[in-house]
Amino acid sequence: MHSRDDTIAAIATPAGMGGIGIIKMSGPRSAAIVERLFQPRHASFPLASHRLYYGDMVDPATGEILDEVLVSFMARPRSYTREDVIEINCHGGYQALQSILSLVLAAGARLAEPGEFTRRAFLNGRIDLAQAEAVIDLIEAKSAAGARQAAQQLTGALSREIGALRSELLLVLSALEASIEFPEEELDVPSPGELLAQTGSLIADLTALLRTFDRGRALREGVCTVIAGRPNVGKSTLFNRLLDAERAIVTPLPGTTRDFIEESLVIKGMALRLADTAGLRDASDPIEEAGVRITNRLLDQADLTVLVIDGSAGLDADDLELFRRLREKKVIVACNKADLPCAVSLETIRASLPESPIVSVSALRGTGMEALQQAIAGAALSNGGAAASHTVITTLRHARSLEQALEALQNAERGLRDHIPPEFVASDLQLAAQNLGEITGESYSDEVLDGIFSRFCIGK
Ligand code: GDP
Repeated sequence: MHSRDDTIAAIATPAGMGGIGIIKMSGPRSAAIVERLFQPRHASFPLASHRLYYGDMVDPATGEILDEVLVSFMARPRSYTREDVIEINCHGGYQALQSILSLVLAAGARLAEPGEFTRRAFLNGRIDLAQAEAVIDLIEAKSAAGARQAAQQLTGALSREIGALRSELLLVLSALEASIEFPEEELDVPSPGELLAQTGSLIADLTALLRTFDRGRALREGVCTVIAGRPNVGKSTLFNRLLDAERAIVTPLPGTTRDFIEESLVIKGMALRLADTAGLRDASDPIEEAGVRITNRLLDQADLTVLVIDGSAGLDADDLELFRRLREKKVIVACNKADLPCAVSLETIRASLPESPIVSVSALRGTGMEALQQAIAGAALSNGGAAASHTVITTLRHARSLEQALEALQNAERGLRDHIPPEFVASDLQLAAQNLGEITGESYSDEVLDGIFSRFCIGK
């Protein structure tokens, strides 16, 4: 990572053509650089902060006007990075943007690395690490619910909750440390029983927060949904129908979806990762056998399974075996081929999977799809959707740190209960505080920062 004294610059808008493109600069030389290249039509330098100026970008070497632009100057610390920030709004063609960026770089700025603006915002204390991660989650959000969640995290909701837990923990720790340092003095320190109760309550809070991770991950990455069923019941046709695209190969020969195909889609505001799988049955050749193994693994991991049966063929032993296997899982039964005479008894399905909605569809004709989408979105919502008003853990990094904090707290609790020397309990509590601090960035390593900001695009 380069010096933070540099002035960095990048194109902040996506590559390609657009009405407007933005070049962003941050650092001590931003204002001086723009002064060399920009000729305001109705104003003079120095530019006032938080105003928009109309004028031309001019190549100082040739006097050539490159574009008609709007320039804004956000003086530190009231800017995204807490440094002097300049934004140049120009016409959005790639060439126009590139030529202005080249001028800016030639005038003394350095090309920003991915995520460097947000990294500076973090290092300069404008946002914490969880908020920085929310920036990229918001940019990458796959659904309205996911975007809402990220926007909430960006306001600092998660950070406040983690901060409150950490302060509580530090209080317990300082009481314990006081009793270690001044054992003889009549200090107003909590009794071991009180310490135990406080630790227990912290454990309960952390556990509850950690439990939101499945829901949070579903919000961020999409609910993992698997289409399963024996061969030839119409899984691939249904998959395509849901995606509205010819992504999987549909053939009348059983067993042609050998591996699995995954696509992201949004159904009624819920993001899903939808996987089409190889038919589940006793595989007769090795490739198919591998496909069945993958399917079994997917089924174990799935948040939701759409179990397809061939309503025109009746249930066979493979179907019944699947019913049995999926008994404990969240399942929607799609009774397919409804355009043909029905040969299955819904009662049998209901008896095997009493909790599962059964939807009659024809993947081939596209009938019943609205009801199926409703059922899928309803099930997905119970997984990831309801959230938003509560703090939810969405990233693995946060979940890991919480797990480690929880483990350290449980060790502390055990220590208090077993009356081990308080120094050991204190070191467990310190570790837990450090783990919580990693989430918001009270403690961090360059490695962690590199991992987080490598997910960003240049210009953010
Ligand atoms: P998979 O092996 O379960 O993925 O099944 P496919 O999607 O490859 O479909 C197997 C066969 O069933 C193909 O010939 C499809 O055209 C046919 N099929 C799929 N859905 C329907 C349906 O709703 N009605 C009818 N009549 N045929 C269907």
